[in-house]
Amino acid sequence: MGERRGSQCDQTGMKFVCDSMLGRLARWLRILGFDCTYEGEGGESALLRLSVSEERTILTRNRKLARAHPERSMWIESERVEGQLSEMDRSLHLRRRAVPFSRCSVCNAPLIPATRERVKGKVPYYVYRTCEAFSYCPVCHHHYWEGTHHEAIKRKMTELLKWPEDWAD
Ligand SMILES: [Zn+2]
Repeated sequence: MGERRGSQCDQTGMKFVCDSMLGRLARWLRILGFDCTYEGEGGESALLRLSVSEERTILTRNRKLARAHPERSMWIESERVEGQLSEMDRSLHLRRRAVPFSRCSVCNAPLIPATRERVKGKVPYYVYRTCEAFSYCPVCHHHYWEGTHHEAIKRKMTELLKWPEDWAD
């Protein structure tokens, strides 16, 4: 599944491209609603090209790259995704800008709200019966719903970044 480039939906006001070391961080940023593509194979030149053409801040573990392009990049020091998120939260105040669960964590496309009728047969039956809020990805056709997964993510951010418990409400 290809990455979606240059989406128009930009509520958070920030756009990123992650280098090949930061795939998990890219996923977490998307869960928080940030437009974040992942450049797994293209290397430095591809990162820079994307940064220029789509006005994305490069998130990189490559210190040399970050030093050479300080206006376009942010060096991520931590090796673990928890530390990486904390670093970003400290300098960019993610919570204030986050629009959680508004973007596909798989392919980065903005999600579209869906009715219960629309998701019938496309989500597990108990989810169809018990959940009320659904959304789907128009690009990779993943379906999302509020439930235990959302709760776990909310809890994780509260534990990890000391965000208040109602941060996503
Ligand atoms: Zn998707």
